[in-house]
Amino acid sequence: MSGFDVVVVGGGLVGAACAFELAGEGAHVALCDAHHPGRATDAGAGILSPETLAWPEPPMLDLADLAGAHYRTLVQELADLGAPDPGYAVCGSLYLSLGDADAAHYAQTRGVALERHGDVVRDVSIDDARRRFPILGEVPAAFLNPRAARIDGRAVTAALEHGARLRGVVWRAGQVTSVDLDAGRARGVRVGDEAIASDAVVIAGGAWTRELAEPLGVRAGVRPFRGQIVHVALATQAGTAEWPILQSSSSYVVPWPEGRLAIGATFEDVGFDVRPTVGGIGGLLSDAVPVAPALADATFLEVRVGLRPVSDDLLPILGPVPGVEGLYLDTGHGPEGLLLGPFSGRLIARVVCGREPGFDLGPFSPARLA
Ligand SMILES: Cc1cc2nc3c(=O)[nH]c(=O)nc-3n(C[C@H](O)[C@H](O)[C@H](O)COP(=O)(O)OP(=O)(O)OC[C@H]3O[C@@H](n4cnc5c(N)ncnc54)[C@H](O)[C@@H]3O)c2cc1C
Repeated sequence: MSGFDVVVVGGGLVGAACAFELAGEGAHVALCDAHHPGRATDAGAGILSPETLAWPEPPMLDLADLAGAHYRTLVQELADLGAPDPGYAVCGSLYLSLGDADAAHYAQTRGVALERHGDVVRDVSIDDARRRFPILGEVPAAFLNPRAARIDGRAVTAALEHGARLRGVVWRAGQVTSVDLDAGRARGVRVGDEAIASDAVVIAGGAWTRELAEPLGVRAGVRPFRGQIVHVALATQAGTAEWPILQSSSSYVVPWPEGRLAIGATFEDVGFDVRPTVGGIGGLLSDAVPVAPALADATFLEVRVGLRPVSDDLLPILGPVPGVEGLYLDTGHGPEGLLLGPFSGRLIARVVCGREPGFDLGPFSPARLA
C-alpha cells in the first residue's frame, strides 16, 4: 500500500467513525481492523440517553450531550450519502425506580436528569408508563426521557464504513502488529510483514488498545469489561418498535421492531474471556422478569458478548499521545461508546487535521495517564 495521511487501527464504531470523519476533512485514510471476537460494537445494547447519565464529572456529561445531538445530524449525513439504514430511532426511555433497593441511585439519577434537562425529562404515572410499555410490571415510580434514542451498533458501523469507502478510505482486514516510529514520530503501521506508511496513526482498538500502545511506552490505561446481553422475542410482535427503552439501576430492556427485546447487561472484570455464562444470563433474566413479567414467556433468541474498553478513571481517552508526534488515541469509551463514539471520531479527526476541535478535550487527554 502506498503512503497515507492517516492510518486508523480498529474498525469498531469508534474507528469507523474516526476514519469517516478524517476522510470528510480531506485526509487520505487507511483503516485496519482485526475484528476480534468480543468486539464491543457488535454486542452493544444501543441506548443513546445522555439525559439520564448521572456522572459526577461535568465534562463527561457535556461530551455526552453533544454526542447525542451529533447523532441527529450524522444520521441525516449518512442518509444523504446513500448509506444503509444505521438502525437509529428516537423511542424515548423510561427510567424505573425499583423501590428501597435502589432509592439512592434513582434519586441521584432523577435529580441530575431534572437539573440538567428539566425541559425534556419528566415524571410519569405508572399508568402512563404502562401505556407506553404495555408489559411493564409493578414499579413504584418512573421518569420519562422522550429524547432517548436507540442505535444498532453493527448497522451504524456498516453505514459509516459505507460512507468512509465512498470518501476514499481503504478498508483493510488484518491485525496491526506494531506502530512504526522514527525519531519520535509515528510513521505508519505493520500488518504482519506489510508496512503501511502514514503521517499519523490513530489507535481506536477498543479493549485491545494496550497491546499496541504499551510496546511504544504509551500508557493506554484501558482494559476489558465483559458485557453479556440476551435477545428474546415476544410472542406478540405488535408495536415494539415504538416502545421506550426501560432503564434502571440493575438492568435495561431495549425494544426493537417485530417483538425483539435486548435485556442487558452484565459488567464483569474477567479479562478477554468472551464466553457467555450461565451465571451471567441467569442474573440478567432474574432481574428483568419482575420488571416485565411477560418476558418469562418470551422466546430465547441469542446471547451477545462484548468487551467494553474501560479506562482507569472511567473517562474516554481522546487526543494526541505526549512524546510521540503523530500518534493519537480514541478509546476508553466504556459503557457509553455507542453514544460517544461517532462524536469522538469527529473531534479526533479535527485534531489530527490541525483544526480546533470545538470542545475542550483536556479532561480526556492521554497525558493524564502518563
Ligand atoms: C453488552 C454491551 C452493551 C453495551 N451497551 C451500550 C449502550 O447501550 N450504549 C452505549 O453507548 N454503549 C454501549 N456499550 C459500549 C459500546 O459498545 C462500546 O463502548 C463501543 O462499541 C466501543 O467501540 P470501539 O470501536 O472502541 O471498540 P470495539 O467495538 O471493541 O472495536 C475495536 C476494534 O479494534 C480492533 N482492533 C484492536 N486492536 C487491533 C489491532 N492491533 N489491529 C487491528 N484491529 C484491532 C478490534 O478487532 C475491533 O474490531 C455496550 C457494550 C456492551 C459490551
